Amino acid sequence: MIRPNFYSHSGLDRVSHLRKEDTWLEARLQDPRTRVVPVWRAQNLFHPLANAGAPAVPLMPSAAAAGHLLNGAALVVLLGMAEDVAHIALDISHLEDPAVAIASTGHEGEFADLRRHGPLLERQAGAILAYARGILHWHARHRFCGIYSFETRSAQAGHVRICVNPGCMAQHFPRTDPAVIMLVTDGERCLLGRQAVWMPGMHSTLAGFVEPGESFEEAVAREVFEETGIRVWNVRYHSSQPWPFPASIMIGFHAQAETTRIDVDRSELEDAQWFERSRLLESPEDETFRLPRRDSIARRLIESWLGRD
Ligand SMILES: [Zn+2]
Repeated sequence: MIRPNFYSHSGLDRVSHLRKEDTWLEARLQDPRTRVVPVWRAQNLFHPLANAGAPAVPLMPSAAAAGHLLNGAALVVLLGMAEDVAHIALDISHLEDPAVAIASTGHEGEFADLRRHGPLLERQAGAILAYARGILHWHARHRFCGIYSFETRSAQAGHVRICVNPGCMAQHFPRTDPAVIMLVTDGERCLLGRQAVWMPGMHSTLAGFVEPGESFEEAVAREVFEETGIRVWNVRYHSSQPWPFPASIMIGFHAQAETTRIDVDRSELEDAQWFERSRLLESPEDETFRLPRRDSIARRLIESWLGRD
């Protein structure tokens, strides 16, 4: 099997048959072994960094330590079970000072954006943090039903929101936005683009959201053409990656160029160019040229094509 991408394969069993039962969830909340994954305003919790070079370690207090946080939380979502231990995401965004709340559990910790530590995290832990962040973001953005704008409430351990309007009662299930991401190649060279907001020198694969009525393969061809004027063929699936920054799943492809003349859409990209394989293999990783982040599927698609994966 292909090696999993960052932020996937949390190792949690999502127990969809059990989480529908309120009594089962209540028992997990009372179980002192249960681990709590707090999220504060889209940030995850880490042990304090001992020194700048040390890899970050996620902090997941036990339910025994975090009981009062569980009781006061705005939202509790069951993530799943790992070796009979429940993992529960907890939204504490309503708190002004989350450090005080964490100190009250007997721990020291700091909240930070997952992307700051992602590439250095132990893979399963990174996937659990990404899952917690992603599903709490979905809840935050679905507090109201889109039909008559009544409020929704969380049910089934946070895996559905139900409209409170008795005449509606629509069920809304967690969603993730599919986006295609693709490395286009032409023999010994590949097509990379650059957005003005990126870190200086960074070049990456093209990407874009899938639109209704479109297959992934069609979305790949359309996005490449819109952004660079290049036509592609032989679109081949590589792998996928949850990317909860804030709400995507990236579906990764390799594609071959059918045409090679670049016509950059400047509203989307600052630049796009063909890069020789040798240039990428010798990337200086500085402001003159660098490859995308190590935890991204973009990097994976490139490394796979370079034969370094
Ligand atoms: Zn409704």
